[in-house]
Amino acid sequence: MTDEALELTRTLIQRESVTPADGGCQKLIGERLAAAGFAVEHLRFGEVDNLWAVAGDSGPLLCFAGHTDVVPPGPLDDWAQGPFEATVEDGWLIGRGAADMKSSVAAMVCAAERFRDRHPDHPGRLAFLLTSDEEGPAVDGTRAVMQWLGERDITIDYCLVGEPSSSDTLGDTVKNGRRGSLNGHARVKGRQGHVAYPHKADNALHRLLALLADLAAHRWDDGDEFFPPTSFQVSNLNAGTGAENVIPGVAEARFNWRFNPRQDEASIRAHVEQRCEAHGIDTESIQWRLSGSPFITREGALIDATRAAILSQTGVDTLLSTAGGTSDGRFIAPTGAQVLELGPLNDTIHQANERIPAEDVARLSHIYEDIVARLLN
Ligand SMILES: [Zn+2]
Repeated sequence: MTDEALELTRTLIQRESVTPADGGCQKLIGERLAAAGFAVEHLRFGEVDNLWAVAGDSGPLLCFAGHTDVVPPGPLDDWAQGPFEATVEDGWLIGRGAADMKSSVAAMVCAAERFRDRHPDHPGRLAFLLTSDEEGPAVDGTRAVMQWLGERDITIDYCLVGEPSSSDTLGDTVKNGRRGSLNGHARVKGRQGHVAYPHKADNALHRLLALLADLAAHRWDDGDEFFPPTSFQVSNLNAGTGAENVIPGVAEARFNWRFNPRQDEASIRAHVEQRCEAHGIDTESIQWRLSGSPFITREGALIDATRAAILSQTGVDTLLSTAGGTSDGRFIAPTGAQVLELGPLNDTIHQANERIPAEDVARLSHIYEDIVARLLN
């Protein structure tokens, strides 16, 4: 038996698509889905290719979501084979996108084809939301498609994102949420002077350090069943002229919070601004950038179907996790959709010689098909 999902993965890897390029991946996928009875829309926003496809007329909408773009391969000398050759060797599929996430996209397409073939009159709707801008700024990708869907009153009930979620064996971990990420950049001003005449100067670094120590010692919350406590980390600190006898007039720091749903941007900022006042720092000296709000699917039919499908296809009892960076799920969950991320092993993502067990592509495809069959029946 030929492994259709593996063959499609190899074809997609060979279509080089470093963000925001799509390399013709979505054209090929669109043709396959159209042949399986999907209404396909190619949505180009800015320089980003996106695809929306749906089959079925009414009822619960289950959407496969993912991206066709990949991160750059890095130095080619670090690769044993060309990153876009999609080599299969000793049971491994090797290439850029093997894990993140052309294998998931191919597994989803083949799962949809088989499901539509076996259940031509299935209830509900099956959809695809693909973008070529997940690894980049993520402005004209999933976020823009969600806005486009909102304008058409299309809402997603269940969303399965193909991000590589597995740790040691396929299906052992499913992401049911992600922490939020908030960035701060402080630029505290004082007055430069001679260290021998401190009364004539105002040490910006002393005040900034006091604020940072205060924030680092603060316990923001205790987390909950699914999330660890909110964490604050200083990532950059700059001040001073290099001379030993000059009091710095300006001090800068960059810092980040990874936060759970017990916090939001407003609660964190309110605390920081109150501490700024305590340390004589103008609250205007901090600039803020929210990368993503936290999201969580605590329970529901999607979790039940996914757990049951993984157990039935692999014998693995899956673990729900919110660890790791943020994902495009952050744009889908706020509309009320149940969102889960399930994909292949993630230990080599964004590395040279990115790889997964070749047999896992077909296994993943069968898990996906099983989930669809449990939800749309
Ligand atoms: Zn990814």
